[in-house]
Amino acid sequence: EFVVLLPNIKEPLDASAVATRVLNLFDGGLEVDGVTHMIYASIGISVYPDDATTPTELIHHADAAMYDAKNNSRNCFRFFTQKIADTLRQRQQIEKGLREALSEEQFSLVYMPIFDCKNNTIVAVEVLLRCQSPELKGIGPDQFIPVAEATGIIKDIDLWVIDNALQALIILRKKHYFKGKICINISGVELLNEHFPSKVKNLLEQHKVSPENVEIEVTETAFIADNETCLETLKALNELGVSLALDDFGTGYSSLSYLQELPVDELKIDKRFLRDVTQNHEKKAIIKTIISLGENLGIRVLAEGVEDVITADFLKENGCECAQGFFYSKAVHPEMFEAQYLHQL
Ligand code: C2E
Ligand code: CA
Ligand code: CA
Repeated sequence: EFVVLLPNIKEPLDASAVATRVLNLFDGGLEVDGVTHMIYASIGISVYPDDATTPTELIHHADAAMYDAKNNSRNCFRFFTQKIADTLRQRQQIEKGLREALSEEQFSLVYMPIFDCKNNTIVAVEVLLRCQSPELKGIGPDQFIPVAEATGIIKDIDLWVIDNALQALIILRKKHYFKGKICINISGVELLNEHFPSKVKNLLEQHKVSPENVEIEVTETAFIADNETCLETLKALNELGVSLALDDFGTGYSSLSYLQELPVDELKIDKRFLRDVTQNHEKKAIIKTIISLGENLGIRVLAEGVEDVITADFLKENGCECAQGFFYSKAVHPEMFEAQYLHQL
C-alpha cells in the first residue's frame, strides 16, 4: 500500500486527475525480464479538512474509500463519501458491541428445529446466534458475522457458540431424551485455522459429548479448492467424528468435483431455491437435481427456508430427506423449544 500526498491541490477534484494518471501507469501491464505482468491498482481518496482533520483519520478514510474501489470494479478510484462514512461508523459500532457481548455474556442461542420430510418429526436442531448488546439492536448475524470475520473476533465467537451449543445438547439429551443432532454454524474463516479442529476436540471432551451427535455447518462459498489448510481442517474434523454440512448449497459456484474429495455428510439447499419453487420450473429442476445428486453420492439432502405446505409436499414427493423453515417452525428460544416440541418425544 502506498500513500500519495497532494499538498498543493486547489480543489478536491484535482486529486482525481492524479489518480487517473496513476491508474494509467498500469495500462497494458508491467514488463519485467521480458514477461508482462498484469497488475491493477485501487485508489481511495480522502480530502482535508472535508473528510477528516487528523492524519490518522485521513488515512483511515482513504483506506475505507480504497476498499470501496476494490469492491466496485478494482482498477479505479473512489472518493470518501458520506455513505462510506456511515458504513464505517456502523461497522465500528458493531465491532464494539461484539467485544462487549463476549465479555459481558450478551450472546444467546435460538433453536431452529429440523424435520424429517416424510413424517414431520424433529431429527435435529440448528443453533443460531443472537446478540443482546445495545449497540447491536435490530442487527442479526447476517450483518454482524461479516464484521466479526473482518476483525478476527469470529474465532472467539465460534468457540463461544460451540461451547454453549454442547452444553445445550447435554440438557436436551438428559432432560428430554433428545436423540437428534445439534447443528452448529461456523465461519469459513475456521477452515484456514489449523488450530480449530483441536479446539473442537477439547470442547467435545470437556463436555463429554459424543461427536456423532454434532454437525458442523459451513457455507459452500468458504471452500477453497486446492487449499491445503482447508482440506486438512475438514479431514481433521471428519476424523474427530463430527459430521459436516455444506450450507447455502447451490450458491457457491464451485466445482462439484470437491464433493468426491471432501468428507461431506449433508447438502443444505439454499433457501433462495425454495422461494416460490412450486411456480418456477427451473427452481424445481435444480432442487430435484440436488436431491438425486445427494442420493447418488450417499449424501443427505436438506432443504432450508421452507415456508408453505405446497413446498413441503413437493419436497416429500421428490424424496428430500430433511427440511427446515418457517412452515415447520421459526427459530425459537430454548424454553419454547422444550415446551413445544420435546414433550412429544
Ligand atoms: P443460515 O445458517 O443459512 O441460517 C438460516 C437463516 O435463515 C437464519 O437466519 C434463519 O432464521 C433463517 N430462516 C430459517 N427458515 C427460514 C424461512 O423459512 N424463511 C426465511 N426467509 N428465512 C428463514 P439468521 O439466524 O439471521 O442467520 C443468518 C446467517 O448468519 C446464518 O445463515 C449463518 O450463516 C449465520 N449464523 C447464524 N448463527 C451463527 C453462528 O452461531 N455462528 C456463525 N459463524 N454464523 C452464524
Ligand atoms: Ca446454517
Ligand atoms: Ca443456509
